[in-house]
Amino acid sequence: MNVSETSPATLSEFDAIDHALVDGVLARQLRPLAKTITLIESQREDHKLRARAVIEALLPHTGGAMRVGISGVPGVGKSTFIEGLGLYLIEQGLRVAVLAVDPSSSLTGGSILGDKTRMEHLSHHPQAFIRPSPSACSLGGVAEKTRETMLVCEAAGFDVIIVETVGVGQSETAVANMTDIFCLLQLPNAGDDLQAIKKGIMEIADLVVVNKADIDPAAAMRAKSQIKTALHMLRPMSQNWTVPVLTLSALNQDGVAEFWEQVTNYRTVLTRTGEFEAKRRHQALAWMWDMIDAGLRSRFRNHPQVKQTLPQLAAAVEQGTTTPSVAAMRLLGYLN
Ligand code: GDP
Repeated sequence: MNVSETSPATLSEFDAIDHALVDGVLARQLRPLAKTITLIESQREDHKLRARAVIEALLPHTGGAMRVGISGVPGVGKSTFIEGLGLYLIEQGLRVAVLAVDPSSSLTGGSILGDKTRMEHLSHHPQAFIRPSPSACSLGGVAEKTRETMLVCEAAGFDVIIVETVGVGQSETAVANMTDIFCLLQLPNAGDDLQAIKKGIMEIADLVVVNKADIDPAAAMRAKSQIKTALHMLRPMSQNWTVPVLTLSALNQDGVAEFWEQVTNYRTVLTRTGEFEAKRRHQALAWMWDMIDAGLRSRFRNHPQVKQTLPQLAAAVEQGTTTPSVAAMRLLGYLN
């Protein structure tokens, strides 16, 4: 949706209120940034419309950040690592935004990053911006809001956007699909790497980190070589990138600079081959299809005739008096 194509009512509303938001975000002010994100996260239709118009206006100013996904099971050290990495990047003169994708937050009411004390120093730093996971009913909803928030943060001039997710469920794939590089944090336990392989997470990792190497450096080295062997057996995401495995101590800030060196290395190599931009184009298109799928699904569920007939047809399918395909065709027919 282009701003110029919105309905007159929306446009006047946009004129009245939201130019201030757009200008504020572009001026790198945190209040308009937070306000825009609140609009994005709102369930109200008018807020969603306004959010879309603001994002559309900000779009030419997006794309400048390095988008880094970070995943790992609870307790692996994600927040300790992100705090250390964030402070390191700020020292390098960069501005850092930290976002989160945690679909469980709508169930539990809490969320990763909800508790700001997890990254106490970073959250108080003027060059950093930390936002907890939006709460939405579905992973799709959470991912969409986080993607939009990421774009707004880019327009606000953040150089690095870190998107954190917990190592459970499908949220890893969602984060890998919205970031440039997906990093997996592992514990130096034997067998931990097998878990990640089983769940298919190792396959989507561009960089693997064995954290807590300070506890038992020898165990960390063993884990590193096991993971390297395991990665060898997987099909590489890119022919031009061998997934590095690093050992690191987030607690001691040991290995953070090497981590960032690998991230920039990744960017350099894949930019040279054209894969970096291709990945972003592919992600944008996949996002569009996600939105189309979600839109169709919601239109379908809200269609009056579907609403009326669905319970009977669902019951008939359950009882075996109608086939699933006949029921589906009949329901889909209402959309014509
Ligand atoms: P998260 O749940 O993945 O965000 O993990 P946290 O960052 O909250 O870390 C969980 C616990 O592990 C905390 O007590 C941290 O202090 C500790 N921890 C994190 N990184 C390291 C590390 O590199 N070495 C050691 N020894 N402990 C760590």
